[in-house]
Amino acid sequence: MVSARGIHKRFANNVVLRGIDLDVARGEVVCLLGPSGSGKSTLLRCVNNLERPDQGTVRVNNELIGAREAGNRLVLLSDAAASKQRTKIGMVFQSFNLFPNLSVIDNVTLGPVRAKGVKRKEADAYGRSLLEQVDLAGRESAFPRQLSGGQQQRVAIARALAMRPEVMLFDEPTSALDPELVGEVLAVMRDLAVEGMTMIVVTHELGFAREVADRVVVLAEGRLLESGSPADVLDHPQHTKTREFLRRMN
Ligand code: ATP
Ligand code: MG
Repeated sequence: MVSARGIHKRFANNVVLRGIDLDVARGEVVCLLGPSGSGKSTLLRCVNNLERPDQGTVRVNNELIGAREAGNRLVLLSDAAASKQRTKIGMVFQSFNLFPNLSVIDNVTLGPVRAKGVKRKEADAYGRSLLEQVDLAGRESAFPRQLSGGQQQRVAIARALAMRPEVMLFDEPTSALDPELVGEVLAVMRDLAVEGMTMIVVTHELGFAREVADRVVVLAEGRLLESGSPADVLDHPQHTKTREFLRRMN
């Protein structure tokens, strides 16, 4: 479903990704762990083309992301084509980034109506069902400021799902939340995983990784250090750096 090949990315002299290969199968949930600055967010941003890799390719469902092949060269997509493509890849950030001046339902339906030309009525009905799915039925007309952080993040998840993405990327979705609100967001993500959504989740929640991930991948200094089942990676890490990282987290 997602196939990243040979991803390199640097910012000026700061080499951040040094050749990342990552494959995620349809329906698979991959948790991405690693120290601060190891390139986790940059990798996710390369997957949905918020950052352009310096080298390497990303494919989602066999479709090249951000570029098209012309002979043996890659030609970058126009902004419009890239935005259209990005609708297939849902992303949820640490900071929920809801539109503060729009109600909950309008936050959820804006994308489908504006970017996909879905009819308002249809977008509304689907939006309501998604709000129910994230346990926010009845809050359609609330504004973001009237909601807790956990509720706002669940709206952000519903908003991403409203585009009917093929894959969902989560970048530390619970890191900005008060501890008592983390569980409700993880529960929504767990349900999504059980329903078969393909997911890449950057998280420090090892309990979630252990319970929900099909695979845990550790990134350090821009390289994939190890990849395996949660039990293998979390309980029997092969790499000294993984052991050190996990020790610091516990
Ligand atoms: P954290 O756990 O703190 O979120 P991370 O693993 O997500 O860390 P990244 O955010 O990918 O790490 O950052 C990796 C490196 O790239 C850091 O040194 C960061 O300063 C740098 N970096 C990321 N984005 C940019 C940017 N837009 N411009 C310049 N440098 C950047
Ligand atoms: Mg990050």
